[in-house]
Amino acid sequence: MKKTKKKKGKGKKRRFYCSVCGREISEEEYEAYDGMCWECWDDQMTEESEMMFGDVM
Ligand SMILES: [Zn+2]
Repeated sequence: MKKTKKKKGKGKKRRFYCSVCGREISEEEYEAYDGMCWECWDDQMTEESEMMFGDVM
């Protein structure tokens, strides 16, 4: 678990973008999904499990 910095900027909102598809995401998503939107994160999870269980199907 990484340590999370709780810092509330006043008035200035930081913008975060998915590192895979480039769409704008919320800071919560950015932190929760490793800089990706949940859809790309979900894709990666699927790819990883496909690599692990690739021979089963
Ligand atoms: Zn994305």
